[in-house]
Amino acid sequence: MTDEKILICVDSDGCVMDVMDIKHIRCFGPCLVKVYGLEEFEEAVLQRWNTINLYSAERGINRFQALCRILTEIDKKYKRVDGVETLRDWTENTEALSEAALEAAIREMRARGLSAEPLQRAMEWSVLVNTQIRCLPEGELAPYPSAARVLRRLGAQYDIAVVSSANPAALKAEWERHKLAECVRYFMSQDCGTKEECIRRLLREGYRRETVLMVGDAPGDLRAAEANGVYFYPIVPGKENASWDRLEENIRRLASGLFGKKEQEALLKEFTELLK
Ligand SMILES: [Mg+2]
Repeated sequence: MTDEKILICVDSDGCVMDVMDIKHIRCFGPCLVKVYGLEEFEEAVLQRWNTINLYSAERGINRFQALCRILTEIDKKYKRVDGVETLRDWTENTEALSEAALEAAIREMRARGLSAEPLQRAMEWSVLVNTQIRCLPEGELAPYPSAARVLRRLGAQYDIAVVSSANPAALKAEWERHKLAECVRYFMSQDCGTKEECIRRLLREGYRRETVLMVGDAPGDLRAAEANGVYFYPIVPGKENASWDRLEENIRRLASGLFGKKEQEALLKEFTELLK
C-alpha cells in the first residue's frame, strides 16, 4: 500500500505563496478607493474589501466579482455608484471573468452606441491593480517558510501538482524564483481550465481518488476537490505555517490508507468555521 502513487495538488497564492494579504491590503483596496473616489469612506471600504477577499467564504473569488459585490454594498450604504447594474450584468453573463473578456464587452457596447463607462472604470481599476502588484518589492512576495520546507521533502517522495488559477508563465517563474519548481511534477493553471477541470485531468494520469489530496486556502479549492471526489487539506488563513507543519503526518496517513472521512471532517471544521 505504501508504494501506491500519491498525488498532492497544491494551490499557489495564499496557500504556498504568502501574497494574498499584501496584494489585497496594498493594491486591490487602495486602487478601489482611488478609482471610485471613495476617500471619504476609505477605512470602512478597505476593511470590507479585506473581509470579503481574505476572511469570508468568498476568499479567493475573482477580482471582478469582488468588485461588483463591494460596489453594490457601497451604492446601498455610502454613495451612489453609477452603472453598478451594468457591471453586475457583465459578471453574471460573461463567458470569462478576465480583462480580455471585459475589453471585448466594452468594444461591443461602444459599437452599439451604448455607454461603456461602468465597464471602462472596472478596467481602469484592474489595470491599476496590476501595475501596483508589479511594483511590490520581490522580497516581500515569498513562500510561507513551512510550505517551502514541507514541499521540498514531499516532492522527493510523492507527485506534486500545482493547481492554480494564475497566469501560467507568471506562476512557473514565481515557483522557479523560489527554487520550488524542481519538486513539482505538473503545473496546471488558467490555460488548463478551472481548478475542478485541472484535477479531473490529473486523475486521468492514473491516480486513485483515495490517494489524491488537494491542498488549498479557499472554499473554491475545497469545491474543486469535492467535485472530483478527492480529499482536501486546508491551509487555514492566518495559521498557514502551522497548517503546513501538520500536513506530513496526514500524508503519511493517506499513504498507508488511514486517511478517511473522519480525518477529513476534523480538518475541515476549523477552516469552514473561519470562512463562513
Ligand atoms: Mg489560494
